[in-house]
Amino acid sequence: MHKKLFIPGPVEVKQDVLEKMATPMIGHRSKDASALQRRISDKLRLVFHTNEEILLSTSSGSGLMEGAIRSCTAKRAAVFSIGAFGKRWYEMAINNNVPADLFEVEMGEVTTPELVDEVLGTGKYDLITITHNETSTGIMNPVDEISKVVKKYPEIVWCLDTVSSMAGTKIEVDKLGVDVCITSSQKALGLPPGLAVCSFSKKAVERAKTVKFRGYYLDLLNLYEFIQKKDYQYPSTPSLSHMFALDYELDKILEEGIENRYKRHIEMAEYVRAWARKYFAIFGDEKHLSNTVTTIENTRGISVADLNKKLGERGFQISNGYGKLKEKTFRIAHMADMNLDEIKELIQNINNILGLE
Ligand SMILES: *Cc1c(COP(=O)(O)O)cnc(C)c1O
Repeated sequence: MHKKLFIPGPVEVKQDVLEKMATPMIGHRSKDASALQRRISDKLRLVFHTNEEILLSTSSGSGLMEGAIRSCTAKRAAVFSIGAFGKRWYEMAINNNVPADLFEVEMGEVTTPELVDEVLGTGKYDLITITHNETSTGIMNPVDEISKVVKKYPEIVWCLDTVSSMAGTKIEVDKLGVDVCITSSQKALGLPPGLAVCSFSKKAVERAKTVKFRGYYLDLLNLYEFIQKKDYQYPSTPSLSHMFALDYELDKILEEGIENRYKRHIEMAEYVRAWARKYFAIFGDEKHLSNTVTTIENTRGISVADLNKKLGERGFQISNGYGKLKEKTFRIAHMADMNLDEIKELIQNINNILGLE
């Protein structure tokens, strides 16, 4: 039996979107390929609220994260982490011989604008990485306030990980002043895993030109320059299957209305939070909760593994806590093309299994 996924990626993909993955191939050097990639970029600009260039990468989101920190750090990167995915940037920097420092907070907390100001005030850095929505903790960073601080430091290239939030919550890339905003196909965009997308600002382009060793496959400047010269075609063969599905999904997103999509996500999040407060507790800083995934503190001491096994028999799957938060917390994702009725059905089943209500 198929288990409906309420995990924070990969998400449940609608049947009509899945079927687009089976579209017959076209040549990746054809006019049709150029048109497809151009359409996708135009629509993504609306989702990202940006006028900057969009890059597609046949990799998961981590590929573009690695490409961004390597391609755009000339001096030193400041990596701000509030959980597992924040820390990943640091490992990428170190393994690519990119000079970097890590600024971590406890899980459940946010990166404060004060911390960013203090770090950037040293003048040691020319790039920062921030996690918009930390999937391991269910916390969303206060990017509006962080943006005000970053704008005081014009030399900073700002990389923002919106892998689990873009298209699920409003992120105004240009207004915030984000230079490289990254997301993956398998989260709030509602597609199968295997494609990543980012915005790439002119400041990021100029910076990358000053970086000597940018790698090859994930050299973001090369991707950028190639699509300008070759009418939106990519240097190597991209996952055309994902592009057919993304082109279609973006039409569905714009048809729903981007603001309606955000509203639907907030409704689902509020329902899960209310349930969590009633029977358990919410993990982390209540002022900064994610709109796409809720982390619930296991205050009743249930076996999360057991709950998930029983849910599985009924055709549902949720997520255990991440890393050291396993069994201490569990996570329910409410993103992409899920609706409130589906969330209610899941919660009813959990209540039923746990004997609540
Ligand atoms: C899933 C996730 C990633 C990793 O993305 P992949 O597409 O699996 O490489 C990075 N950051 C966040 C916040 C995520 O949720």
